[in-house]
Amino acid sequence: MELTTNEKQIIENSIRDIKDFPKEGIVFKDITTLLNNKEAYATLMNHLHSRYKEYNLDYIAGIDARGFIFGAALAQMLGIGFVPIRKKGKLPYTTIGEKYALEYGIDEIEVHLDAFSGVNNARVLLIDDLIATGGTANAAATLINQTGAKCIEACFILGLTFLDGIKTLKEKTDVYTVLEVD
Ligand code: AMP
Repeated sequence: MELTTNEKQIIENSIRDIKDFPKEGIVFKDITTLLNNKEAYATLMNHLHSRYKEYNLDYIAGIDARGFIFGAALAQMLGIGFVPIRKKGKLPYTTIGEKYALEYGIDEIEVHLDAFSGVNNARVLLIDDLIATGGTANAAATLINQTGAKCIEACFILGLTFLDGIKTLKEKTDVYTVLEVD
């Protein structure tokens, strides 16, 4: 089900812009003010639940760290499992990792090798709060597919459309953004 204009406004108005954080020139989209706003949080989660309940998903994979908040809540609503995709060095069992480019340097994310092994050819929804350059989400989708599972769609609360992240990620998986920022 599509969000109504009013519902969209409730979610959009709950997200706070912080100028020049973490450095000059960046407008940081602060979703903590969405999370502590019960109307906005419920509107968002009910929308995601109604969208994904027909997708026949087996797991939600959330990206460290804000993807955990939305992903874990959605997995519980859908009655399916949740898998964390974490920054390098945080997961205790055998992992596979994928590096990706940052503005300066590289970073790496990891997932447990057996994270999706409870279901054959598991259908996975990837979730994070925001897609910018798409580097993180691309690496995460690659990891999911490398485990033998399939990344069915990547979902973001916010998509920055002035960057190429969404376009690039669409070559790998379907992409859904609740709100777009241009
Ligand atoms: P990217 O890999 O460039 O798509 O960056 C996505 C990751 O960085 C996500 O996990 C976001 O939470 C975070 N991020 C990037 N840009 C912003 C921003 N303007 N506001 C808030 N979070 C951001």
